[in-house]
Order: sequence, then structure tokens, then C-alpha cells
Amino acid sequence: MGIKENLLEVRANIASAAAAAGRDGKDILLIGATKMNDAARVREAIAAGLTACGENRVQEMLKKEREGAYDGAELHFIGHLQSNKVKQVVGLAKLIHGVDSAELMAAVSAEALKKGIVQDILLEINVGHEATKSGFDADMLPAALEKASELPGIRVRGLMAIPPVCSDGTENLPYFKLMHKLFIDNSKKKYDNVVMDFMSMGMSGDYQAAIACGANMVRVGTAIFGRRIYPEKKN
Ligand SMILES: *Cc1c(COP(=O)(O)O)cnc(C)c1O
Repeated sequence: MGIKENLLEVRANIASAAAAAGRDGKDILLIGATKMNDAARVREAIAAGLTACGENRVQEMLKKEREGAYDGAELHFIGHLQSNKVKQVVGLAKLIHGVDSAELMAAVSAEALKKGIVQDILLEINVGHEATKSGFDADMLPAALEKASELPGIRVRGLMAIPPVCSDGTENLPYFKLMHKLFIDNSKKKYDNVVMDFMSMGMSGDYQAAIACGANMVRVGTAIFGRRIYPEKKN
């Protein structure tokens, strides 16, 4: 199947998962995880109706941006952002999903102030407590929001999570449920620079389960673009 057919199928799945949860599919932003797809394929997806693209590598994003890959769509940064690359992403990405430390929040804030803008971000939660993954521990979230309230260059728009790799669509339900609870609990208290609008979770294997638990941004790559062929590692 081509990109267009895949996209239609993913949209239909999003609509039915949303309906099952008493919501409207239109309220869920589908972000195409466009990594490793060249500018022509990204443009093909946008022509077929994709409205938001998510990249996880800064160099690749800048190159494709110069090639006009994202014209007509929103650009989101969904990867792990290193502090030495903050400058290149702030102001270019509409939303930075994976802000995973107080230091990174401060760096994004400083760069945004320098550019005279306010950068929208999501705080990444290490929902599976995995040593190999970055993100705030759930119980550190109030302190992180407190910190955000002191940083005028950023606006926290919600939370993001990448749960452990799953082998079926429902295995991550407990993590998605935990994220939902965190989202609700931490939306009650008002902080400056924090507007809890978005919950970014769910990928090709589990976006329906994520939607059942309140996700309103899903990041889907493989189900739209097909399997990514990673180059073999050279020794
Ligand atoms: C690649 C990627 C995705 C999409 O993964 P698929 O399983 O291909 O849908 C989602 N989120 C992030 C952060 C990614 O890097």
C-alpha cells in the first residue's frame, strides 16, 4: 500500500478509536513521524493530507526543511534534543515534544528569549522508569512545572511519553493510563507559562490504545510510511 492509502487507514482508525472514547477524531492531531523518509516522500504524505510532521534528528530536519519537505504542514521536533542543538530547533519547530530536564527547559527558554519568541514545549515523562530513556520521573513533574513557571521563554503545553517497546497494541495501556492520571492531576494547579492542552503518546503499534487513554497527539511513522530500513552498522 502507498502512503496515501496508509494515511487514510490510520485516519479511519483514529476516528474509530476516538469515537469509542466518546471523542471526535478531528480533535486528535496525527503527526507523521517522517524520519528517514526523504523530502519527496514527506511531500507526498502532505499532498495526501498529512498536516503535521515530526522529526527526531536535528541535522536531518534542517536538511529536509531547506528542501521544502514540510511546506504546508506543521513541523514538530519529537526526538531527544541535545542542548548544543537547541539553537537550531527553537523557533523552527512549532512544538518541541521531548523536553526531558530542567537544564533543557532553561536552555530552550534562553534561546527563545534571544529570538524574541515563546517556544511551546511538552515535558517528556519516563513513564516506564527505563534507564535507557530520558524524561522526568512522574513524581518530579510538579517541580518541573514550578521551574517552568520561572522561565518566560517557554510555554509548557502538556506531556509526552515513549513507553517501553510493546509487542501488541494493548500492552502499554497501564502506562497510557498512568499518563492520563498525571495529566489530569497536574492540570489542576495553575502555573505561569503552563497550559496543559496536549498529551502526545501512541505510535504505530499502539496509537488506538493511547487515544483510549486521552492522547490528543499521536506520532505515527511505520503505519504511514512503511518499515524503516536502517543502514547496517559498520564496525
Ligand atoms: C519514530 C518515532 C515515532 C514513530 O514510530 P513508529 O513506530 O514508526 O510509528 C514516534 N515517536 C518518536 C519519538 C519517534 O522517534
